[in-house]
Amino acid sequence: MIKVVVFDADKTLWDHHNVSEFEEPLKLVDANTIEDSKGRVLHLYPEVREVLKELKNKGLILGLATWNTEEKIIRILTMLDLIQYFDIIVARTYPYKFLMLSDIIIEIHKRNIHVKPNEILFLDDRRGHFGNVWLYLGNVKCLEMWKDITRYRDIFNILNDATNE
Ligand SMILES: [Mg+2]
Repeated sequence: MIKVVVFDADKTLWDHHNVSEFEEPLKLVDANTIEDSKGRVLHLYPEVREVLKELKNKGLILGLATWNTEEKIIRILTMLDLIQYFDIIVARTYPYKFLMLSDIIIEIHKRNIHVKPNEILFLDDRRGHFGNVWLYLGNVKCLEMWKDITRYRDIFNILNDATNE
């Protein structure tokens, strides 16, 4: 059974490829859109907000593993009013997702919750991360965003399948 869902941010939660580039002052154009002082724009993908809320309501632990500065990620998640949904945010200035997932697992264990690799679902738009995740962390369920699933609501089908396994 999946207990933890970990998301990448850039090109997974929203359409910009690197929000660390965003320069203040940032402007909330509408609830799902942020524009920076140089005209860079980020749009939250459809269904993200609703799905995060629903996963939280189901009692899942939600994590974020992103190659960005922590300061910028916290700023943007706060502006989008999404920060409340994430239990653990790991933002690093390097791209190694398996290390970030490892930090998330350590943090979960510190909270006295036991979680096995196959109880973790990891979503990222770059399949290239998955090899090291499997090599170092084991049988984490990895999904390539926009290939393995094409809309956010599909996550619920995966949760149901994983429950039946
Ligand atoms: Mg990405």
